[in-house]
Amino acid sequence: MPATKTTSAPKTIESKLARLGLRTDMDLVLHLPMRYEDETKVVSIRDACLRGLQTWQVEGVVVKNEITYKPRRQLLVQIADESGELQLRFMNYYGSQVKQMAEGVRIRARGELKHGFFGAEMVHPAYKVINEGAPLPTALTPVYPSGEGLSQTILRRAVTDAMKRIDWRDTLPNAFLSRLQLWDFEPSVRLLHYPPADVDEYALTERSHPAWTRMKFDELLAQQLSLKRAQRARREKGAPQLRAVGALSDAFLGALPFALTGAQQRVVKEIRADLVEGFPMQRLLQGDVGSGKTVVSALAAAQAIDSGYQAALMAPTEILAEQHFRKIAAWMEPLGVRVAWLTGSLKKKDKDAAKEVIESGEAHLVIGTHALIQDTVQFAKLGLVIVDEQHRFGVGQRLTLRNKGSDGLVPHQLMMSATPIPRTLAMTYYADLEVSVIDELPPGRSPIVTRAIDQNRRDEVIERVHAAAQEGRQVYWVCPLIEESEVLQLQTATETFETLAEALPDLVVGLVHGRMKPLEKQAIMDAFTAGDVHVLVATTVIEVGVDVPNASLMVIEHAERFGLSQLHQLRGRVGRGSAASVCLLLYQSPLGQVAKQRLLTMRETTDGFEIARRDLEIRGPGEFLGARQSGEAMLRFADLEADQWIVDKAREVAQYLLDNSERPEYMAIIDAHLTRWLGGREEFLRV
Ligand code: ADP
Ligand code: MG
Repeated sequence: MPATKTTSAPKTIESKLARLGLRTDMDLVLHLPMRYEDETKVVSIRDACLRGLQTWQVEGVVVKNEITYKPRRQLLVQIADESGELQLRFMNYYGSQVKQMAEGVRIRARGELKHGFFGAEMVHPAYKVINEGAPLPTALTPVYPSGEGLSQTILRRAVTDAMKRIDWRDTLPNAFLSRLQLWDFEPSVRLLHYPPADVDEYALTERSHPAWTRMKFDELLAQQLSLKRAQRARREKGAPQLRAVGALSDAFLGALPFALTGAQQRVVKEIRADLVEGFPMQRLLQGDVGSGKTVVSALAAAQAIDSGYQAALMAPTEILAEQHFRKIAAWMEPLGVRVAWLTGSLKKKDKDAAKEVIESGEAHLVIGTHALIQDTVQFAKLGLVIVDEQHRFGVGQRLTLRNKGSDGLVPHQLMMSATPIPRTLAMTYYADLEVSVIDELPPGRSPIVTRAIDQNRRDEVIERVHAAAQEGRQVYWVCPLIEESEVLQLQTATETFETLAEALPDLVVGLVHGRMKPLEKQAIMDAFTAGDVHVLVATTVIEVGVDVPNASLMVIEHAERFGLSQLHQLRGRVGRGSAASVCLLLYQSPLGQVAKQRLLTMRETTDGFEIARRDLEIRGPGEFLGARQSGEAMLRFADLEADQWIVDKAREVAQYLLDNSERPEYMAIIDAHLTRWLGGREEFLRV
């Protein structure tokens, strides 16, 4: 199919359209209405008045046209049909409008009917001057998503013009369409832009109409094709073959103070199998908080090191990177592994020293933060990149690290996430990602009991904190999230710290927040880990990864301000040891509907996947994936949860087409379909 040419609208309109992503004729044709207005029917003025307060279209002759000045300047136009009279009121108007609606002129007006002091009226109705007997539109009028300076009239005209120019040929052959029971492309698109007056409006609004189904299918097919193609491209790149599972891996396993769970063993096997391949692994390791992902990633690193390569582990925060460093260094250094530590906060001298051992290859394993992706960091022989809490990084940051391979080889990549992504999302957003799931917690964990408590019972809660500390347990006290202001958040944290320190004079209370210097942060975390601090007042800096098994009571203040996954992450900081753990969610009443739902969910389940599923229900998929993931920007029409059956069909067809792509007619279908739906946007997905 030939590429569609750009519209010939004047420059300014063109650039305004471009701002909405509408650059080609096909873009415009696929810019589908968000709703419709029904101008296909006219009711009599009397019926409109009787049936009352909603939007009606009426028609009548102007019987009076006057400008009044009380209470302010406005234009009043009285129209009449054989059933009655109605007033149209315009507060803003042009002189030309006064003339346009002169007495005796016939007008069709559409607007919301109100009962004013002087009887029924419409304020600022949409209107048209017409001749008697002018035909009514036979289709509903589309209302498009729009932007600044773009009226519906301009958009409608641009879309209608574009519809005259595009190549309407279906990208899919008839045989496919009938087997899939899908509508043809052209009638679907035409119906969605101009639905006939007798259309099933419910199906249209709910987007369950067959015309919508076809659009969703096409969109999902383009997404699947594109992502699967990216996957093939990846398989054509070379990666170090990490064949040896040798001395280090064995020694490491032998030295661990625990045995791997069944789930851990399974994912270790999956990763091992990938690493020996000659193309880069791209695997997401999913596992609920506390499921033991770190040890799995360390085993992957051991395989790289055993094979003579380096491994790098990048974490989103200094606290988290630090924890990994300590834990892994403690495991591995006794086995002769040299672990380097690199973060932005290091002194220049230490940074340079770290870079040197990374570049020389003396360091086998490098652990750090974003500092790892700087240009000046060069690896001697990087074989494996591990990214913890991957959703906290942008695609670009992950790519930069992956580009640090040598000899033209792309390192393998293992991404980890404790924010469980529901299966439906993982399969569609991450078509070019293998997924491993740890679906079992290590043994001996005691369940966490969660309670929601009204803020005004704070004193009782402080009592409980005291009691817990006296039993030798440690406590996290999480400060309210204040999204509007970091300064305010800091202030609140400091105040909370002061009140708690005062209320608990016999305990050691510590404070940790995001604005602290790394060294200070580290000192307080160390003290907490060592058990020297009883109560740790914290902002959300402790949200990810912090691992202090002796902490078994978690208090979250203003829990109603946090999102579900954030609450789950926070709660995951307790329940890591053998003591029974408790999470108290303090809330400020009255609770809104959504907040109530969230707290209820938290009380009902500790299963991260179930929580993620409910979160998806509450928030929708867009926000879910955080930093712009591949594929996200492509879905405008389909809803991954509700349209699961279409997703399944699209995935099957994509697979079938690609499996047969050596046949020219199938290749042509793929090309035509991707061109139509993605235009030039495909490179967006190549990550
Ligand atoms: P996460 O998956 O949240 O990153 P971690 O890797 O931090 O979890 O593991 C949580 C805790 O469980 C750590 O203290 C870790 O050493 C411990 N752990 C991991 N695997 C096991 C296991 N198989 N048996 C017992 N404890 C384990
Ligand atoms: Mg972790």
